[in-house]
Amino acid sequence: MELFKMYINGEWCESSDGKTREQINPSNGESVGFTAEGTVEDVNRAVDAAAEAFASWRLTSTAERAELLRKAADIVDERAEIIAKAECACSGQLYRNCQMDAGTVSAMFRFYAGLVDLPAGMSYNQSPMVTTMTLREPIGVVGVITPWNAPIDILSKAIAPALAAGNTVVVKPSSITPLGTLEVIKCMEDAGFPKGVVNLVLGEGSALGEALGSNMKVGKISFTGGTETGRSLIHASASNIKKLSMELGGKSAVILFDDADVDAAVDNIMYIMYSMAGELCVSCSRALVQDTIYDQVVEKLASRVAKIRVGQSDDPEAEMGPMISKAQVERVMRYIEIGKQEGARLVTGGYRLTEGDFAKGNFVAPTVFADVTNDMRIAQEEIFGPVLVVEKFSTEEEAFAIANDSVYGLGAGCYTKDLGRSMRFAKEVKAACMWVNTYGPSASMACPICCTKQSGYSTLMGVACLESYMDMKQVNFMGEPFEFGWFQG
Ligand code: NDP
Repeated sequence: MELFKMYINGEWCESSDGKTREQINPSNGESVGFTAEGTVEDVNRAVDAAAEAFASWRLTSTAERAELLRKAADIVDERAEIIAKAECACSGQLYRNCQMDAGTVSAMFRFYAGLVDLPAGMSYNQSPMVTTMTLREPIGVVGVITPWNAPIDILSKAIAPALAAGNTVVVKPSSITPLGTLEVIKCMEDAGFPKGVVNLVLGEGSALGEALGSNMKVGKISFTGGTETGRSLIHASASNIKKLSMELGGKSAVILFDDADVDAAVDNIMYIMYSMAGELCVSCSRALVQDTIYDQVVEKLASRVAKIRVGQSDDPEAEMGPMISKAQVERVMRYIEIGKQEGARLVTGGYRLTEGDFAKGNFVAPTVFADVTNDMRIAQEEIFGPVLVVEKFSTEEEAFAIANDSVYGLGAGCYTKDLGRSMRFAKEVKAACMWVNTYGPSASMACPICCTKQSGYSTLMGVACLESYMDMKQVNFMGEPFEFGWFQG
């Protein structure tokens, strides 16, 4: 069986203590190979290599960096099938989702290749002899820690701007979904990134992530993952007051007013909730429905969700695949029990799929709870599985209050034909990414997203994201030297 190695200082290498980890396909429980299980020593070696490479990488021209990113994008496109297959085998995401994600990787590389020259400084012409300018520079070594859902998509949104800005990177993917990431890093090697500029360490997050977080040579961490892990990383990163990008959890609300196009809304909610088996940070896991259309919406959801075709991740007919791991199945099933005990009404799903083809995989039936109140745990806590909760409201004010009654602020949606109400929704509800009469389609890469509340703090996409991988200096120029005249002696 193949051993997938780490990539440190331009070399593929095993772990310093020789340990390995078996990678399991979530669809069928079968082994898909072994990965090197890195150590803290390996992380430190990767950071040292990245710090050394930074000395020359920071001096490269923007044109050189753009060319390398474009070359990498071309190679990613050539190997899109290999990348998508590797991603699909370990993450359990449907193959067609993985194909889209491989496309996102090359698009993101090209997008930031086109933006390299944009982060601008300003000059302030204060008086004939005094000019101040601001100068943007790369930060140094950036640690990139990614979660198990959508690994390569999230990877590209961090490494493309980080490298375009002139930083070097040490990537640490989730220990259970590293294979797609590994293929992307191979593309970067073949594109010709100099040794040490891109490094990959593999292994357990609690050890390796923590080691990156506390390493004094790392200037910034881009972290995507759960809120609790983010909190512990914030503590670890205090060692040298690192800059942080935090993309954390969510429990996003979608509001259906009674003038909504109910069929479109139900279709959109189902796509976002179930096409990734609920393992999507921004999924609309709370549907808030106006009392006048409540029964109709619950009925439609129940009947359509019950018909979702669940299948193996490489089955082209499947509409929803497996959960990432047995542990995640257990977590989701615990929440389903909690929902029942809290008095929510289970209208479809709520059980594991264990027969036939499902026997060895991690499958939970697409689930909907109705009659949920916002104080229930299933309405407040991120389940990260195919469990939609439906809540009832009467007035617009009540809907916005329920949407805001969450520690998270990642996404929010609203279906209404009333323009004024959609404007009030946009201004009253606090979330990073909002949709009106739709939910989920990605905006142009030029549009930034800024997380809020306990969903994090960072800017994704756009020039603003590129700038977040740079430090800014203020430089003051005096045309003619002068003395302050303070001292008499
Ligand atoms: P985790 O927080 O468990 O893990 C995220 C990453 O951090 C993994 O690489 C993990 O490694 C690593 N890690 C684990 N412990 C530590 C530590 N102590 N210090 C540093 N790094 C550590 O998240 P999941 O992988 O379970 O992903 C799901 C979560 O991610 C959900 O909450 C979801 O909402 C959030 N997410 C947010 C997004 C956003 O844009 N806001 C996008 C996608 C997901 P290992 O896996 O090896 O333990």
